[in-house]
Amino acid sequence: MILSDTGSAPTPEALLGVEEQLLAELDGKACLWCGRAATGLYWACLLADCRNPGGDRPELILPAMVCATPANVALLAGWAPRFADCDPATGMITLDSVRERWTPRTRAVLFVHLYGQTADLEPLSSWCREHGATLIEDNAQALGARLPDGRPAGTLGAMAVYSFNPTKILQSGGGALLVRDQELAWRLRGLLARHHPSALLDAGRRAQLASSYRNLHHSLAALKRLLPSQDISVPFGRLRAAYDGLYLAPLKDAAALAAAWPELPAILERRREKAALYEQLLADDGPWSVLSGWRKSGVCWRFSLLLRDPERLVALSDAVRQDGFHVSNLYWELSSFFRPRDACPESDRFARRIVNLWVDDSQTLNDVRRCCESLKHHAQRR
Ligand SMILES: *Cc1c(COP(=O)(O)O)cnc(C)c1O
Repeated sequence: MILSDTGSAPTPEALLGVEEQLLAELDGKACLWCGRAATGLYWACLLADCRNPGGDRPELILPAMVCATPANVALLAGWAPRFADCDPATGMITLDSVRERWTPRTRAVLFVHLYGQTADLEPLSSWCREHGATLIEDNAQALGARLPDGRPAGTLGAMAVYSFNPTKILQSGGGALLVRDQELAWRLRGLLARHHPSALLDAGRRAQLASSYRNLHHSLAALKRLLPSQDISVPFGRLRAAYDGLYLAPLKDAAALAAAWPELPAILERRREKAALYEQLLADDGPWSVLSGWRKSGVCWRFSLLLRDPERLVALSDAVRQDGFHVSNLYWELSSFFRPRDACPESDRFARRIVNLWVDDSQTLNDVRRCCESLKHHAQRR
């Protein structure tokens, strides 16, 4: 099925082959193609069992160390986001950190395969089953990734979401929700049959609103960096809903997505080649450690360094950027935006130390070499 400009419709001819392949590989029961991973996640929230005695809002446990999109989408769908802390070595949530956030209102858990890394999700998946919570996997940064046991990422959740938008692994535009549970697949078909498209934003307004959101988010994160005791959740909470229109988007170009799909193995190989070079040039040779989860999963979204000293992050990233290289450290521990009571100290520490280096087709192997030289040069200069 697809969400297009004119509403929901059967999957277009162009995407049938891709859909069949994805369903077979992940033992999926239904696919919803749409404009964003955010839209897929919105539908996942609508599908997950959100009934709560007493009419309390259902709670979705999600990572504090990721972009704010999943939490914003949860709120849009009527859920309360709860933030789980991360494993200090990977930035990803763990069964223990999820358990700490459990309440009788917990109805779903979102596991994000961060930067292309994966994890053994069997314990989390059993825990979710025992506690009546739906496990959703976010594969936006991990298209094509393998779990430690060799199965594809996405095979343990009841649902998985994908993004094919710029900066992700395939960049043809679009997103998807994959449903692996037969009952949820029936519910999806029912919901779509009754779905009437609300007025969607046109591309120009969407771009302006997205830019305004980014500025707001970055300003508040910068303020928090300067004044750690400053509360930013109240002003953010007042403005947040103004951006709700960003998250629901139709799939514009099914043919472009279908055309990009067969390129995936070659794209992943080129990314791994750059990641291996970064690792060779940077491992144990600077004031950092490298994240090497991409080796096991086979997918490197960004090659990531964890600086030992958080105080050096901003100056070092700025210096390498001045030399002309892409360096990002976009994420800011999310509970400070949404729910300060869910403080996640490990995620806060991780966010202040992570440096993401680019491995996409905008970078050549030579760029990687020069970027490593720049990093090492500025790291030596104190
Ligand atoms: C980019 C991203 C999203 C959102 O993807 P869109 O297609 O832009 O909605 C969600 N989750 C993660 C982990 C992402 O990296």
